[in-house]
Amino acid sequence: MRTIRDLPALRARVHDWKEAGESVGLVPTMGALHAGHLALVQAARAACDRVIVTLFVNPRQFDRPEDLARYPRTEEGDATLLQPHGVDVLFAPDAATVYPPGFATSVSVAGLPDVLCGAHRPGHFDGVATVVTKLLLMTGATSAFFGEKDWQQLQVIRRLVADLNIPVRITGCPTVRERDGLALSSRNQRLGPPERLAAPALHREMATAAGAIARGAGVGDSLAAARSRLITAGFSQVEYLELRAGDTLALLEAPAAGARLFAAAWIGGVRLIDNIAV
Ligand code: AMP
Repeated sequence: MRTIRDLPALRARVHDWKEAGESVGLVPTMGALHAGHLALVQAARAACDRVIVTLFVNPRQFDRPEDLARYPRTEEGDATLLQPHGVDVLFAPDAATVYPPGFATSVSVAGLPDVLCGAHRPGHFDGVATVVTKLLLMTGATSAFFGEKDWQQLQVIRRLVADLNIPVRITGCPTVRERDGLALSSRNQRLGPPERLAAPALHREMATAAGAIARGAGVGDSLAAARSRLITAGFSQVEYLELRAGDTLALLEAPAAGARLFAAAWIGGVRLIDNIAV
């Protein structure tokens, strides 16, 4: 695995691969890698001749400066973790390479970002859409792999790739969880021991509510009960807990094919998100 930081070197590498007729898989990350990221790398490895992992903590997708400042940065450990997984290139540009002086363009998807995380994190999905568009164009990847953990992000990326005719295949990969159900996240590192113990309640209560809804219980009642159990379990705030269509993200009052439960909740100053099929 070679670490590359500048665009000409990346382009030269990918040019040679493409000349040889090889497919190129991209796994964009912000680092602090865990088994969820590695599952994306394995999916890319299985589907593509070459694999690029990008490591870039994208300042444009953080709506709160303190979140950006506290985001874990562990490049050396990340490179060690990736070593046995057959990654060809770790692309780790600095902010000036991605956003050089004078940078003035933003990619903004309409509609999908108006709800869920987008409604609570102003500008977040413009930042995501802009950096993902750039990473796709910088790498020239033929496939790119994203986690279903960030379901809304995955839908935004599918939309922009279709709308902008970017020649890349987007693959969504299932959420990787701890044994107790907590979805793996770089932010889990910031949970103290009591919060870490309480955090699996998010997935547990979502699964309970999803099961009840699937068996015919009222959506409003099931979600209200789940909200209050989350507060009892130690969450300080449930930002949203909603039943929505998986593709359009339209709010649902009753289960339908493709329906999912989406949640964001705060515990110990850490914001956790999750989503599951109903
Ligand atoms: P991040 O580094 O948080 O920006 O995430 C990079 C990629 O890893 C995104 O496509 C995420 O959806 C994906 N990802 C993060 N956590 C998980 C997880 N627990 N399971 C599967 N994919 C994940």
